[in-house]
Amino acid sequence: MKYVVNEGCIGCGLCEGTCPAVFSMTDSGVAAAIPDDVPDGELENAETAKNGCPVGAIEEA
Ligand code: SF4
Repeated sequence: MKYVVNEGCIGCGLCEGTCPAVFSMTDSGVAAAIPDDVPDGELENAETAKNGCPVGAIEEA
């Protein structure tokens, strides 16, 4: 399972706070997901981050 952050991201930082193993803020002020599969044990956190994004900017890749 992989995730991507689309252009709708408003840079609120919530996903990074929920699942920093997968999501991080970039120098551009928006979030990005790691390009690799979600690490073992992080899928639930990553899914929580996806569902918690206020603008629905996180998608399954
Ligand atoms: Fe962007 Fe959504 Fe993450 Fe907020 S939760 S930084 S809007 S991807």
